[in-house]
Amino acid sequence: MNHALIHHKLSLLRDKNTGSKEFRELVTEVTMLLAYETTKSLTLKDGEVETPIASARVKTIDVTDIVLVPILRAGLGMVEGMLNLIPNAKVGYVGMERDHKTHQPVDYYFKIPNQAQKKTFIVLDPMLATGGTIIATVDRIKDLGAVKILCMCIISAPEGMDTFSKRHEDVKVYTASLDDHLNSNKYIVPGLGDAGDRLFGTD
Ligand code: URA
Repeated sequence: MNHALIHHKLSLLRDKNTGSKEFRELVTEVTMLLAYETTKSLTLKDGEVETPIASARVKTIDVTDIVLVPILRAGLGMVEGMLNLIPNAKVGYVGMERDHKTHQPVDYYFKIPNQAQKKTFIVLDPMLATGGTIIATVDRIKDLGAVKILCMCIISAPEGMDTFSKRHEDVKVYTASLDDHLNSNKYIVPGLGDAGDRLFGTD
């Protein structure tokens, strides 16, 4: 995204001196700005309302068909911003961890509303690093029959974006910044450090 407000708020998010309270507020704000772009092509239906003057033809989104899917733990930080804009969206939750033997991400928690084929899913994860977790999440949602899936990440690494787009070329990822690379510990460079730790004050 190339937007002055997003650039400005990203600079504050990246700053290691930004504390948890401000960090959480900034994640909410950047999520709302990113949502403007992510949601611009949601399916609309025609309707009609009465203004005080006359009837007006209007277009509406079926907000009950939208499912936000934060990936635990850092994805939780993006829920408030999305619900500020789409308060009637449903919220599913996905917790992923790496299997010690296979090294593949497996879900330890997966709670998604029924009738996935009819819904639009918006997967939330602030950091797209290797892409393993978000790929596995989209795999699981597709297994339920979902066809409309979008992803929102605040900062992404080119390596993860590349892997993701090869695996799920039908799924768009909206990101505020595509950074330089992953370091040997799989942190995004320059990134912002561990998003979960910064959101929740752990380390
Ligand atoms: N997850 C994070 O929180 N930060 C990174 O840089 C990579 C993955």
